[in-house]
Amino acid sequence: MHLKSLTLRGFKSFASATTLRFEPGITCVVGPNGSGKSNVVDALSWVMGEQGAKSLRGGKMEDVIFAGTSGRAPLGRAEVSLTIDNSDGALPIDYAEVTITRTMFRNGGSEYALNGDTCRLLDIQELLSDSGIGREMHVIVGQGQLDSVLQADPMGRRAFIEEAAGVLKHRKRKEKALRKLDAMQANLNRVQDLVAELR
Ligand code: ATP
Repeated sequence: MHLKSLTLRGFKSFASATTLRFEPGITCVVGPNGSGKSNVVDALSWVMGEQGAKSLRGGKMEDVIFAGTSGRAPLGRAEVSLTIDNSDGALPIDYAEVTITRTMFRNGGSEYALNGDTCRLLDIQELLSDSGIGREMHVIVGQGQLDSVLQADPMGRRAFIEEAAGVLKHRKRKEKALRKLDAMQANLNRVQDLVAELR
């Protein structure tokens, strides 16, 4: 599985439709200060369902919509599409290529689509939840965060690597399973008490 392309329309500084194609391996986005490199990274987390305006370096969610420049009027909607190569079947969906699209209008509210069909945010989250690239997987390391990774103590660094590697997801599942086991044990104790009383 790898990210194939990202198309931005009316997202932040990308007023016109712009498509970035990624090949397997490392992709570098280079450009002068303020040219929109971080906006591309913001678009990636936004299309995967990011809900926090601050994480997108804005004050409110509508700030992702192109706000206009001296030569170009503001737009009424932002749309980002992310196409993922799923020929290895890493995503639990019967398509070799998956396109996730998120659209937002100025009057608020987001719409999501999977391969062109309208869907819920939950569907996107579930699809990505085991892939290691979902919104909550913290695989996107922003500017500034790099410093905190480099300066973290060994335990802090380990926590960061565990999150990026997807260990956190398994730890949460383990905790959930242990809680269930505790509840089961409590029920079992109760049943054993009842059996003992009835004897
Ligand atoms: P640096 O190298 O300094 O980190 P960068 O290439 O990462 O810069 P970004 O932070 O991605 O640049 O882009 C900032 C630019 O995006 C600014 O010029 C800002 O005005 C513009 N921008 C952000 N949001 C919007 C918006 N909603 N509408 C229009 N332009 C926007």
